[in-house]
Amino acid sequence: MSSSRLIGAHVSTVGGIENAPLNAHQIGATAFALFTKNQRQWQGKPLTPDQIDRFQAACAEYGFDLASILPHDSYLINLGHPTRDGLEKSRAAFLDEMQRCEQLGLKMLNFHPGCHLKQISEAQCLSVIAESINRTLDQTEGVTAVIENTAGQGSNVGYCFEHLAEIIDQVEDKSRVGVCIDTCHAFAGGYDLRTPETYADTMRQLETIVGMPYVKGLHVNDSKKALNSRVDRHEKLGQGELGPEAFRLLMEDERFADVVCILETPNQEHWDEEVRQLRVWAGEMVEQS
Ligand SMILES: [Zn+2]
Ligand SMILES: [Zn+2]
Repeated sequence: MSSSRLIGAHVSTVGGIENAPLNAHQIGATAFALFTKNQRQWQGKPLTPDQIDRFQAACAEYGFDLASILPHDSYLINLGHPTRDGLEKSRAAFLDEMQRCEQLGLKMLNFHPGCHLKQISEAQCLSVIAESINRTLDQTEGVTAVIENTAGQGSNVGYCFEHLAEIIDQVEDKSRVGVCIDTCHAFAGGYDLRTPETYADTMRQLETIVGMPYVKGLHVNDSKKALNSRVDRHEKLGQGELGPEAFRLLMEDERFADVVCILETPNQEHWDEEVRQLRVWAGEMVEQS
């Protein structure tokens, strides 16, 4: 294998976003995810030109291509919100997140599609989400909206590939929409990946229902909870219900050779070891005893 896979983790930005590239470098990453603002607050301080310069300089210093960075938006945002006020607030915050990515020179923004709060149907919620994406893409340039599959906890939509396909179908600019497949969420949502047969079957569904060109990211997480549990609890790779075989199959899958792989596993002390293990499974490194 010539080039190395794009592997990293959702790293800390404590002290400023310009610290994220070093944090990623220290775990042997070739890609990373981050929040460009405090994920638990609606309003973030605007980025200063100095912050943007320092972030980009650090990315260059540690060899991170800006196109291999997969920022995640705030957990407060619900692009499928059933009420007008809730939706307006979410759309404004999402636009701000996309504009921050634009300013930083990032090419993607990863987000959970939304939830209907039992006030509208799933189909209506998916249409509201697509409209939210359309409005945001109209007001921004160069950043792709990357929809993440969910575990289907609560009233979240996006737990099946049909939901992702339905949103994409209603997005006008198909060149700026994609998906991120979280392995924990897929498993909790009912997609098995634990054997070569079940892995192949799940990926066949992803290919036919969504289409591989739309896959822009992978969240590589084991699951604490069982298949189809609809509960989102991440676990260290190989130590959860998915187990090591699922991740070996994923890393051997040439269809994802250029797709950014991000760890969101619970203990960041293990990330360097997990990155190394993924590279072993990808055939880039030999196992150390
Ligand atoms: Zn995820
Ligand atoms: Zn999750």
